[in-house]
Amino acid sequence: MTKEEPHLSYSQINTYMNCPLKYRFSYIDGLVPDFTPSALHFGRSVHSCIQAFLQSSLEADSLRSDQLIDIYREEWRRFDGPPVRYSKRESEESLFNTAKQVFTVFTEQHDPDIEVIAVEEAFTLDLTAISEDCPKDMPPLMGYVDAILKNGSTVLVDYKTAARKPNGDVNAMQLVAYSLAAMDLGYDPNELQYRYDYLLKTAKPELVSCPVAINDNDRKRFLKTTTRVWRAIQSSIFYPNQSYLCASCAYQRHCNDW
Ligand code: SF4
Repeated sequence: MTKEEPHLSYSQINTYMNCPLKYRFSYIDGLVPDFTPSALHFGRSVHSCIQAFLQSSLEADSLRSDQLIDIYREEWRRFDGPPVRYSKRESEESLFNTAKQVFTVFTEQHDPDIEVIAVEEAFTLDLTAISEDCPKDMPPLMGYVDAILKNGSTVLVDYKTAARKPNGDVNAMQLVAYSLAAMDLGYDPNELQYRYDYLLKTAKPELVSCPVAINDNDRKRFLKTTTRVWRAIQSSIFYPNQSYLCASCAYQRHCNDW
């Protein structure tokens, strides 16, 4: 199955839940965003470096932090999307310096005894086969699991960059989706542990791990939610949901004209 075939992704579901109108602009109308938020570009660039590091660890030849910064620089340079819009007090140079510190922290904290089992593992999950609630014509859930690591227990990890430490309960929905994906990858989802690893681009960058407990009820709820979202999309239910996310929305111009 290719990405061009009809499918659902966690990103689509999350976008719809945050703002149905933004979903329409992005996934139905295919509008080009007016700009690329610097946080998004930074996050994607760092993500590529983490992926390269884990792949090199899997091949028993771990990259150094100075090699990661070279990859970061190249990722940044070859980006040809909409122009990057920097948030306050950020610039290409300041983000480059932050990335350097992030990679130092990340490589120093990486335990060489941890076995990297999988990196950017693609999955395609037929939701209709695991839930009677899902309509038979619902497309599969597709995506990539960032990493599966083993050090005693087996842990599915999703890496994120963030401007501040997560406080209180984190939103587990992405990991719940990936716990379902684990079935497609041959795992019993109840035997895995789950974790978000946050790379904080704070004044003193940090790596903060947030373990998340996931059970069958969480998966049932995710399937029910996904089914409702898909039905709403099929029924062309698109409306603006104004929130703090509007400040970094690259479709504001189209939203104002709506
Ligand atoms: S500006 Fe806000 S309400 Fe409008 S599309 Fe973007 S996120 Fe939605």
